[in-house]
Amino acid sequence: MDKMKKIIRFLEKRYGYPEIGGGSKFRLLVTTVLSQRTRDENTSRAAKRLFSVAKTPEAICKLPLKRIEKLIRPSGPYRQKAERIKKLSKIILKDHKGRVPMTREELMKLPGVGYKTADIVLSYGFGVPTIAVDTHVNRIPKRIGVVNEKAGVEEVRKRLESFVTGKKRFLVNLGLVRFGQEICRPVNPKCSECPLKGVCEYYKKEVVCK
Ligand code: SF4
Repeated sequence: MDKMKKIIRFLEKRYGYPEIGGGSKFRLLVTTVLSQRTRDENTSRAAKRLFSVAKTPEAICKLPLKRIEKLIRPSGPYRQKAERIKKLSKIILKDHKGRVPMTREELMKLPGVGYKTADIVLSYGFGVPTIAVDTHVNRIPKRIGVVNEKAGVEEVRKRLESFVTGKKRFLVNLGLVRFGQEICRPVNPKCSECPLKGVCEYYKKEVVCK
């Protein structure tokens, strides 16, 4: 599809490819759980505080729940997240010999892990070419018109993956997240300065024809 090719070319040029793998998969998983329903800066603060005390499933299991809650307090619904982080650490230790599982199915059995979190761990942690669909990746292709507006998160992922293969899939998540923060914002998108306005349905309907 021409539109998708244009989007990929644009993301490639503007944002480049993300670094894949390398870090601790466990810390990536916990950080992604911490990032749910909060802003990036809150996630970073909470993750830094927690990992300064405990970095591994073993260490987190040893911490009392109240201590975890206190450490991750900046991350929004911290009580629920602390419980999930403690439970998933126990499961990883007990059922996976302390290692983060590397299939979507196994990841999604962990508390607090849905499609987005599983796909982030698979792609950024294990280098599996999949597209993690967060709020930006869900919104932007619908606005542009490459994905049906009513599609659910899993449908969005499958549709996008039908257009792009291999390492280009890594580009889609990182690129759209940054594009969604900078230009195609949830509210008041900066359409007049957007390099993709020529292929965007939202622009045609909501800006040109308004
Ligand atoms: S034209 Fe507007 S709605 Fe379309 S991609 Fe650009 S910023 Fe988003």
